[in-house]
Amino acid sequence: MRPNRRPFVAGNWKMNLTIPEGLALASELRRVVERMRSVDIGVFPSAVAVHPVSARLTDSRILVGGQNVYAGGFGAFTGETSADMLKDTGATWCLIGHSERRHVFGETIKDTNRKLHDLTAAGIKSILCIGETIEEREADRTIAVLQAQLDGGLDGFQISAAEDIVIAYEPVWAIGTGHTASVEQVNEIHTWIRGWLKERFSAEAGDEIRIQYGGSVKPSNAAELMTVPDVDGALVGGAALKADSFAAIVKAAL
Ligand code: PEP
Repeated sequence: MRPNRRPFVAGNWKMNLTIPEGLALASELRRVVERMRSVDIGVFPSAVAVHPVSARLTDSRILVGGQNVYAGGFGAFTGETSADMLKDTGATWCLIGHSERRHVFGETIKDTNRKLHDLTAAGIKSILCIGETIEEREADRTIAVLQAQLDGGLDGFQISAAEDIVIAYEPVWAIGTGHTASVEQVNEIHTWIRGWLKERFSAEAGDEIRIQYGGSVKPSNAAELMTVPDVDGALVGGAALKADSFAAIVKAAL
């Protein structure tokens, strides 16, 4: 791991945990991971829990983010939350392009790009998730798919600091399935993403942008995944719902 890329371990709570459960987990995390200072730590609660959890984590170094946002400002968009509204909740980060947004809710590459621009304008940092399905991998289309998601997702995005954006490589076939990508597969893809970032931004910025791996990361495989030179942390789903397993993954990233 390069010293100028501080690992970032983020927990995506998805549509899990009631507000009281989220608050209890936030308090417990504060107790167990707060002292792990060389890693950035974030939690991404459900929309209704972002505000109470971020209030519970005031003065903590645990970052709080949204799982989704609607690009469109204010207006007649029933059921949606704008980037400015998300900012009001205390969120400083947001996930975009998570595979469940793309594959369950039909979010397009253009949508991810609009969200990125709205979030940036609101002063919220983004974790852009990219990943191929098993059919795309088997058809040898992995790189083409990732390239389209990066080209389109980051279209027009100007970087002012490398911490402004995180890329999460999450092979769709590894999310919530218990099947983690092998170290060789992760190494191959993260090396490719690093090269893409250097070309798109600059050698320096591309070298400093963090790339998380996500897909069935758990305490038993986290340490091995973190040995991959271009893995700068993890985006964690299931194992982020319990303080002890999430803390073990944070520890593996130290
Ligand atoms: C995720 O939700 O982004 C994820 C990677 O989930 P899991 O760790 O459960 O595979």
